[in-house]
Amino acid sequence: MNPSELIREADRCVLCGLCLPVCPTYRLLGDEGDSPRGRISLMRALAEGRLKADAALAGRLDRCLGCRACEAMCPSKVRYGRIVDGGRALLGARGGARLRRVLANPRRRIRYLRLAHLYERSGLRRVLRASGLLRRFGLERMERLAPPFTAPSALPAGFAPAGVPRGRVALFAGCLAEGVDHPAVVAAGRLLAALGYRVELPPGQGCCGAMDAHAGDTRNARRLAAANSAGFPDGVPLLSLNSGCGAHLAEYGEWAGAAGEALAARHRDCLAFLAEAAWPDGLLRPVVGVVLVHEPCSLRNVLKGADALYRLLARLPGAEVRPLPGNERCCGAAGDYLLRQPTIADALREEKLDALAALAPRYLVSSNRGCLLHLAAGLRERGIEVEVLHPLELLARQLV
Ligand code: SF4
Ligand code: SF4
Repeated sequence: MNPSELIREADRCVLCGLCLPVCPTYRLLGDEGDSPRGRISLMRALAEGRLKADAALAGRLDRCLGCRACEAMCPSKVRYGRIVDGGRALLGARGGARLRRVLANPRRRIRYLRLAHLYERSGLRRVLRASGLLRRFGLERMERLAPPFTAPSALPAGFAPAGVPRGRVALFAGCLAEGVDHPAVVAAGRLLAALGYRVELPPGQGCCGAMDAHAGDTRNARRLAAANSAGFPDGVPLLSLNSGCGAHLAEYGEWAGAAGEALAARHRDCLAFLAEAAWPDGLLRPVVGVVLVHEPCSLRNVLKGADALYRLLARLPGAEVRPLPGNERCCGAAGDYLLRQPTIADALREEKLDALAALAPRYLVSSNRGCLLHLAAGLRERGIEVEVLHPLELLARQLV
């Protein structure tokens, strides 16, 4: 979005303030400058050249989670997500570039995963944790977020359909697919194959570019969107597993022109696709216990897919499926926000952990890996034992 488009979009805001109560940072900090309405005014002034791109202004945008609760509730349908990405692009790419570079490059990702595995296996992780050195080098938080490191797993080439073939689908695996997301990728493939779909994982796919887009790195966001738009077969539904990636793919038209529009048109959230598919009877074994559902903001506010998730989980015989209280508020993970803004991220997580401690479910499911890592780290710190996993992992585990 260029400055004049940003000004036009910002002008659609009628300053009613209805978005303020749903904004997590406004609720926490109580400052108009940390509210959606305040941020829109600031970004408009920046685009007009009335405000300088200084550290104070950047701080206001940096503290925005990008949860888009404001956008989902706005009666004027102001596209806040577009405005904030445009505002950040005007400020220029900021912070987190090294992490984004690693995630965007499969060879580099695998190299880092191998090193992380060696770090775990050699016992160095235990030693460094105890030594306090990680804190001195500012790595303690990132280290605490990470689950035990395993060896990187290669992406499967695909999954053959069981029974009567129902068609082809392509999976968007994402930039964590060789590591923490690998079980969810395999789970999606197994479930889709069990329903009769031939599942393809085109090798040319890469990171969706959401983190670049939200960091103001427009060039990289466009490059990744163009590569993915060319990397998936035409006319085949493209299914995403992480709702953060899905929310970005659904808006690829903003980043990759006509090819991006075409990809967005055939993109579906995998949960919604599976919720609508025909399921044979007796495909899943029963689950015992309470399954609490965390609804990522990208699923609720952008993909509008929370209902589909509950419909899908209702297929699990025996499971007592309930929403995690406070789902309307962001958990604080928000891409790399949990690393950049630890105080706010942890404050937002507290109420989720309180609810989890009180309800003591057997499982906590969430369709966004960043949320899962953030919540799981909080549970470990508090010593609360709940199994945390992607809903597709829970479903696939119950396949007969
Ligand atoms: S963004 Fe929407 S809800 Fe918020 S003040 Fe503007 S018009 Fe009102
Ligand atoms: S995206 Fe979320 S944190 Fe940012 S202004 Fe909107 S409601 Fe507030």
